[in-house]
Parts: sequence; structure tokens; C-alpha cells
Amino acid sequence: MRRIDLKKANVARSNTIRDINRQIVLNYVREKGPISRAEIARETDLQRSTISLIVNELMRLRLITEVYGQSSGGRPPTLLTLPTAHPVAIGVDIGTVRTTVATCDLTGRIIEREEFRTDLNVERTTASIIERVERHIHKDSRSIEGIGISLPALVDAKNGNVLYSPHFGWHNSKIIEKIKNATGLTVTADNDANAAALAELWFGRPEIRDVRDFILVFIENGIGTGIVLDGQVHRGKGGAAGEFGHMRIGTDAPVACATGSRECWEAFASERAALARYARSAGSSNGHDGLTFAKLIELAAAGNNNALQALKQTARYIGIGMGNLIQGLSPEAIIVGGTIVRAWDLIAEDVKTAAEGIVCQGIPATQIMASTLGSEPTLLGAFSLILADKFSSISI
Ligand SMILES: [Zn+2]
Repeated sequence: MRRIDLKKANVARSNTIRDINRQIVLNYVREKGPISRAEIARETDLQRSTISLIVNELMRLRLITEVYGQSSGGRPPTLLTLPTAHPVAIGVDIGTVRTTVATCDLTGRIIEREEFRTDLNVERTTASIIERVERHIHKDSRSIEGIGISLPALVDAKNGNVLYSPHFGWHNSKIIEKIKNATGLTVTADNDANAAALAELWFGRPEIRDVRDFILVFIENGIGTGIVLDGQVHRGKGGAAGEFGHMRIGTDAPVACATGSRECWEAFASERAALARYARSAGSSNGHDGLTFAKLIELAAAGNNNALQALKQTARYIGIGMGNLIQGLSPEAIIVGGTIVRAWDLIAEDVKTAAEGIVCQGIPATQIMASTLGSEPTLLGAFSLILADKFSSISI
């Protein structure tokens, strides 16, 4: 039961029910399409005539389209599906190393993409983004509706402010405002872990679609967490929720966290921590300088014991942090995202054993699993910032 927020409450509009029914039909098409009008009627309590009205409206808005199914003798059935012909959103994924600018259709499928090296100078990175975004808009000005941005920063998504990025050293950057002014489009930005959590919620594995409470743990140079409660991302005051990467879990970590502490979870369990452990065990003369985390995983998979042990020790700390999250929030699932997913077969047991080891008896078991969104959950997250708006129900 959600308490009514009197500051936001309006008198229920007469078309509120119609809005909800519209979202039901749209989401049936999204998740189960191609699907017929009759099938939607069978699975919901909506009247056939209501469905026809809604379908016409959604087709007019170009949110669904008709295709022909397999004929079983007579006329082929007309089915409903999401249109995939035009790009509808631009995703900007600002990573610590590379920035990706891409377009996608309504299903989140990438249509076109390009990358450049992220510049620590916010002005230069903003200019590079605007240049590429304008190129896409010029090509598809009629269908592109908005720009979603994912970045490793504290973002006040509601008010469109990038408050602070410890990695880049950006404070109160005007990046969102500048892209908005340059393009005239809606620009929505969020922290990378929140964006990835939103992508899991809308585009993740089928079993996650039924989960209302989960935590996405995004591991890269740092650790970010996106908390989903009751089917929506929990952002907290000023968008600052989910900074579990900086919870204290020990002392004397192998590296310092982004803000300089050797006690935080990310100092023990990030990619950088794993690389530091490997460097220590392999010896500094062993040619590991410039080794990437992806390469470390390859070494471990190929049987290099130092690399495997560095991953396993890091996995133990990943698990300890997750155990704390389970202890405090009891989510239905924890999903791991980032390059570490490629090492999941090697480390899953270590992560789970460490997490289970610190969770008190009586707390319901939480599934810990790897993301199935591939190597770019944050790019899909950037798309989701625009796409999810189309599929989510109005707030009730
Ligand atoms: Zn920290």
C-alpha cells in the first residue's frame, strides 16, 4: 500500500482508467508480441471493443504496428508488435574510458553506434557528445524523441543535475543543460548503476520481469548499486541512494576508492582491486602493466593460477558486500553487471558462499545471478531512461 502524497495528488482524471488500460495493452504487445487482439482479450478482462480502440490509438502514436502471422489455411492472422523501423532514442553511455553514442528502436535494439575516448575535461566530452548526437538527429529528426545519458556520477535525475563525479572530478557540471540547449530534445540522465538497473527491469531476463525488488551491482573501476523497490528505481534524496560502493567493509584494501578511502567495498571488490591483487602476486616485473580486467579474466580462464586467485579473492569481497545488502534490504535477487560477468562461471560459488556466510539465519534466500544484458548494460540503461517512460504506467 502506498501512502498518497498530498503534495502531488490531483483529482483522478476521468481518463485515468483508460491510461492504465492503454499501458496494459502496450505492455502485452511489448512482452508477448507478436500477439493478436483476441489473445490480449483472452488474457485480460478487457472488452474486445476497448482493445480495438486502444490499439488504434497506439498505432496512431506509432507505439505498435501490425504484422501478418502464419496462415493456417485461411487469411493470415493480423498480429500486433512493436515497430522496429525507426530509431526512437539516443543513448549516451559515458564510461570511465570510452563514451558510446548510439540510437535504438522501441525494443532497445541498437541501430547505429559510435565511440570515442572519454576526456576528463567535461567541456571537451560534452562537445564530442553534442557533435555526434546532432549527426543522429539530423538523420532521423522525425522519429528521435529523446536522449538518455548514463554516467558514473551522482545525478539528481529529477532536476537534471550532475552533482558530482569522483572519477572525473566533475562538480555541478552543466552537461545535461548544454546537450538539451544544443539539441532541443528531452534529455534524461542518471547514475550508471541506476540506469543499468532500469535496463534490467525493462529488458532483463524473463525471471527478473516478475521480480519487484532487486539490486543491480555494477562492478567496474568502482562499484555502483541500483536499487529497485516495488518495480521502480529507488533514487533517494537528491538521487544519492545506492552508494553502497562506499560502505565500509574492512581496512587496508589493495587500492583506494574513488574518494581515497581504503575501507570501502569498491576498494576491496572492484576491477582495480582484482588487478592490484594480481600485480602483487605476479610480481611487478611480470609485464602486467597496462593489463585490463578483461585480459585478467582471459588469463584466469586459460589456467593462470595467480589470475584465478586474484579473481577469487575479489569474489569473496564482492560476496561480503552483497551479504550486507541482503541483510539490510532482503531483495528477491541481486544481479551482477559489468565485465565481471565474463568471469561468472569461475567465481559464482565464491561470491555466493561469502554472501551466505554473513547472512543471519531466518532471512529468506536471495538469488545472486549475472546480468544477461551483455557487455553494455549501461548503454541499454541510457536507452531505458527514454524508453521506459513510454511503457510505464502513470503514477497511481
Ligand atoms: Zn569510498
